[in-house]
Amino acid sequence: MPAGPLLKDVVLLGGGHSHVHVLKSFAMKPMPGVRLTLIGRDIETPYSGMIPGFVAGHYSFEECHIDLARLAAWTGARLFHAEATGLDRENRRVLLKDRPPVSYDLLSIDVGSAPNLETISGAAQAATPVKPIAELGRRWLAFLERMKSWSGRLEIVVIGGGAGGVELALAIDHRVRAVAKGAELQVTLATKGELLASQAAAARQKMRAVFQRRGLRLVENRATKRIERGSVQLDDGAWLEADAVFVVTEASAAPWFATTGLPLDERGFFAVDDTLRSTADPNIFAVGDCATMLPHRRPKAGVFAVRQGPPLAANLRRALLGQAPQSFVPQSRYLSILGTGDGNAVATRGPWAVEGKWVWRWKDHIDRKWMRMYRE
Ligand SMILES: Cc1cc2nc3c(=O)[nH]c(=O)nc-3n(C[C@H](O)[C@H](O)[C@H](O)COP(=O)(O)OP(=O)(O)OC[C@H]3O[C@@H](n4cnc5c(N)ncnc54)[C@H](O)[C@@H]3O)c2cc1C
Repeated sequence: MPAGPLLKDVVLLGGGHSHVHVLKSFAMKPMPGVRLTLIGRDIETPYSGMIPGFVAGHYSFEECHIDLARLAAWTGARLFHAEATGLDRENRRVLLKDRPPVSYDLLSIDVGSAPNLETISGAAQAATPVKPIAELGRRWLAFLERMKSWSGRLEIVVIGGGAGGVELALAIDHRVRAVAKGAELQVTLATKGELLASQAAAARQKMRAVFQRRGLRLVENRATKRIERGSVQLDDGAWLEADAVFVVTEASAAPWFATTGLPLDERGFFAVDDTLRSTADPNIFAVGDCATMLPHRRPKAGVFAVRQGPPLAANLRRALLGQAPQSFVPQSRYLSILGTGDGNAVATRGPWAVEGKWVWRWKDHIDRKWMRMYRE
């Protein structure tokens, strides 16, 4: 709690990648009279970059999650373990499920995204969505327990060929082979477009070679239409056998965003300007997957949420001091390192891609270093 009279309430909604930085920044350089409140649906917030490594068995649950209760206690912020369902902007309040609303003077939203299960019939009932990632973590451990005694054919289908889907399919293959000794495993990745459509051709080529070498089946340019218990139907009518299905399709916006009256982009994400502030409400900032910077559109990737942390913290400070927020241009070329689950990785930036065990060690070093900032 700040010393002296309380003048301003800053509410951080969601414990995403940018907000953990804001918490730390305000702890290291507090502003007199400012109280920080974090509202989070999950107390253990996952670091997305390490989740495929957790699935592959390289990291424990604790190693790839930030304990928001500890972080809030250390930084002196209030923490509400609650899920937001909307905003009452007129009275500057965040509406919560099963809890009274929380008032704000300044609000920042970093609640991420989730695959849209509604576009695939049966997905909500018969598949495991990869988000919320916290839920995936729990389900994955239970799934592995069941796999230990599996014998005979085992078909696992991963739907979605972006970076998350590719890493997850390879991580699942690696881990299930180690755990389900009695299974004849076949992992299939099915994707509506090309594999890694937004990455360089060189990265696609390397990943296709990895899939072939490791015996994973790749079904490209086929949208999934329907998921039933035991099978997956593609848009050409073909069926794939599936004892388990994981959905890692395109990031989509939570339906409650549309009830806030804030401007949204065409996919339903909060529209923000180049200062990360809502284009219509000067008291609201939004970052990470849940927001789209209209002047500088970028893919929905954790790397951008991480990079938005420092400019967000700076602009929240400026707004509290009554100063105009400063603009920020996210990088247009960025390093993406995709783990292949078996201690190798493919790195890509712009048109080039490299692969090797050293690339995995490099990624591991970057990720652990980032986590140390918020765990220790
Ligand atoms: C398997 C997988 C692997 C990935 N690997 C990478 C990678 O290697 N590199 C990369 O750049 N990107 C990766 N991504 C993408 C990455 O997950 C997202 O881009 C990133 O998590 C976005 O960060 P964020 O801060 O916007 O939100 P998140 O990290 O999703 O955090 C959102 C937080 O808000 C909380 N929350 C959500 N809704 C509410 C609510 N209503 N009320 C209160 N709290 C709420 C959640 O509990 C969570 O703590 C991967 C994605 C997947 C699925």
